Amino acid sequence: MYTPVDMLTRLSKLLFCASLLLVTVPSNAQQDAQKTQAKPKPEETEVWQPVPKVVTPAAECNAPPSDAIVLFDGKNIDQWVDVKDHQPATWDVHDGVMTVNKKGGNIETKRSFKDYQLHVEYKIPASITGTGQGRGNSGVFLASTGSGDDGYELQVLDGYNNSTYVNGMVGSIYKQSIPLANASRKPGEWQSYDVAWTAPTFNDDGSVKTPAYVTVFLNGVLVQNHFELKGQTLYIGKPFYKKYDTAPIKLQAHGDKSEPMSFRNIWVRELP
Ligand code: MG
Repeated sequence: MYTPVDMLTRLSKLLFCASLLLVTVPSNAQQDAQKTQAKPKPEETEVWQPVPKVVTPAAECNAPPSDAIVLFDGKNIDQWVDVKDHQPATWDVHDGVMTVNKKGGNIETKRSFKDYQLHVEYKIPASITGTGQGRGNSGVFLASTGSGDDGYELQVLDGYNNSTYVNGMVGSIYKQSIPLANASRKPGEWQSYDVAWTAPTFNDDGSVKTPAYVTVFLNGVLVQNHFELKGQTLYIGKPFYKKYDTAPIKLQAHGDKSEPMSFRNIWVRELP
């Protein structure tokens, strides 16, 4: 026999369990909705627009793809001018290459660029002499922002058994970023740079909106990995930014006494 108190206790337990069921068991409609929500479709994360443009790669690696602007193909130096006076460049074109004219000074492209992919090949002569910064020194200025060495220099230097300050060795962003590796070939062998350059952007008052970034492969080896530049590369002093919109690409005729080096197969792809 249950006493009234027992009955009441049992009834309250039953009511409690029933309330739990009401709270935790969803209705059929809720269950259907949950089933629908629990099944994300692959289509939900597919993006179909905008469609990237078609670029036909070259038959050989390192040759310019279909949308590249060829800056030097071994035949002439028409795409380049003297930095000082913007007269035709006077570097020596021969045998499909162009060799630095140290007296002629730096040269830069007639065209100006913003963000791009660049391919450059260079050779330090097998007969190279000198030491440190005086041995096969040149440079690829990723943006030439004025005469002389104004701009952002990716250093070119003999890096094969040639000791120098490491933030000025081949593969460095001059005096800003030490390369991740020394991937130099011997003097007398052709070497390649492949670069992705993201130009800095500026506010109207000249202050930096977004800094420059660079990724560089030397002979296929990653030497700069999305490095954020601190400004223009300087021989003396701290780097700083100077407002520009688009700029030529510049090659350096370094004033040291070592034998001049050569370039070939230079092309660029402008990035959207
Ligand atoms: Mg240099």
